[in-house]
Amino acid sequence: MATDVVNPQTDAARRTTGKVRSHQSQNEGLVFEKSSPGKKAYKLPPLDVPAVDPAGLLGEVWRGQGAELPELSEIEIIRHFTRLSTWNYAIDLGMYPLGSCTMKYNPRVNELVARIEGLAEAHPYRPDALAQGILEVIDLLQRSLIEITGMDAITLQPAAGAHGEFTGILLVRAWHESQGNARKKILIPDSAHGTNPATAAICGYEVENLKSNAEGGIDLEALERQVDGETAALMLTNPSTIGVFESQIHKIADILHAKGALLYMDGANMNALVGKTRPGDFGVDVMHLNLHKTFSTPHGGGGPGSGPVACKQFLEPFLPTPVLGQNESGTKSWNYDRPQSVGRVRAFYGNTGMFIRALAYILANGPDGLRQTTEDAVLNANYIRKKLEDVYELPYKTPSMHEVVFSDKRQAARGVKTGDIAKRLIDYGFHPYTVSFPMIVHGALMIEPTESESLEELDLFIEAMRAIAQEVEETPELVKSAPHSTRVSRLDEVHAARKPVLRWRR
Ligand SMILES: *Cc1c(COP(=O)(O)O)cnc(C)c1O
Repeated sequence: MATDVVNPQTDAARRTTGKVRSHQSQNEGLVFEKSSPGKKAYKLPPLDVPAVDPAGLLGEVWRGQGAELPELSEIEIIRHFTRLSTWNYAIDLGMYPLGSCTMKYNPRVNELVARIEGLAEAHPYRPDALAQGILEVIDLLQRSLIEITGMDAITLQPAAGAHGEFTGILLVRAWHESQGNARKKILIPDSAHGTNPATAAICGYEVENLKSNAEGGIDLEALERQVDGETAALMLTNPSTIGVFESQIHKIADILHAKGALLYMDGANMNALVGKTRPGDFGVDVMHLNLHKTFSTPHGGGGPGSGPVACKQFLEPFLPTPVLGQNESGTKSWNYDRPQSVGRVRAFYGNTGMFIRALAYILANGPDGLRQTTEDAVLNANYIRKKLEDVYELPYKTPSMHEVVFSDKRQAARGVKTGDIAKRLIDYGFHPYTVSFPMIVHGALMIEPTESESLEELDLFIEAMRAIAQEVEETPELVKSAPHSTRVSRLDEVHAARKPVLRWRR
């Protein structure tokens, strides 16, 4: 292991398969230019029916000539796409310590269950009477998530965490309006994820910033001063984005409730709480979950995601339409007769494939397994914290939950920033951690290993991080010009995001 880390190229190559790498360099410049006239990936038998004139058959929609598609043999196509897939990084290749994102392993049993024909093929227009199986799955997931969060009611419609925030804040607004009191502002701590203020603004609220205290938590006195008759809610992430549990959460809820304001919890960090404590028990009124984070359904490009919103009973009438109900004999059906509902937020019922995966994960683990998962996630983060705190600056000494946030203070003194260290990590065969977030930590390195990682993988990561810290002392230029083992090195990230080139043209 140690020698791998001393020679990062070897390690990176080990993780991405050395053979493909050497093959790549032979094919430099031929990456996309593979077509040659007349090649085909198929052969059809001779026509055994009379030929028809396509122009006569199709009339004016007949294109007249073939599409200009690349001409390739089957193996060339297979190799092209397989090679491209190896230039990417995946949780199936190694640790993916992207803090706040909970990039955990997607268990294969989830995929097996999601492919059961009766579930995978259940058409959303199928009458309820003929869809009792999938409705049972949805109901069981709803009840499981209600139990896990300690809330009273839930909607599975939202397609992501941010979409869940939007839905949750719509509930908050609908409730205040039903009280004849449309309030104006939402309080958001300065450590929050960017989607929180964006959500509040898009729901028509003014965003008021709440400063964190020295421990990275909510300053109760500041909160007391800032909550008034115009405050609709506080949006709080717990544990916060610096991985710290808000131990004053009960008091925070009391301060808000005393002034008629609600407590929204961003549940993206539930991987630190599942089976240990429940937001519904510590005063939260409404929250979202990210099934693609905490409950192991695929993430990012492998999505789609799912961001259920759970709430207390008094918010239930406002949930998106339809909600799942059942009659005395247990037959389930969608209820559309919901006069106070905020309306629909998603076509049909949400991303049902993700419901099946999340339920498979919950049932495969069971209550003990879920609790163990939480404990392992917290243990792994604290192991990394302990093993790296002598080389990287730890801005908040408060105990860490499932993620740990360092800063680049010591490395910045030698001209190396968090982004450089993250890029160098790629050479060591790891996906970067989260860079420069949360914003309250200058030059943040936010690391979340999740419970998926073995001690061996954690040690390899720690060795890589320590080796990079040493390089910063001895050969800082090496780190500042990383990565050195990828096909492209430093991209113009702003340009790539603003003016993406999505098509290949000769
Ligand atoms: C991921 C995340 C979100 C947004 O969730 P998406 O599913 O990516 O839309 C919101 N808040 C926090 C703290 C997060 O980590």
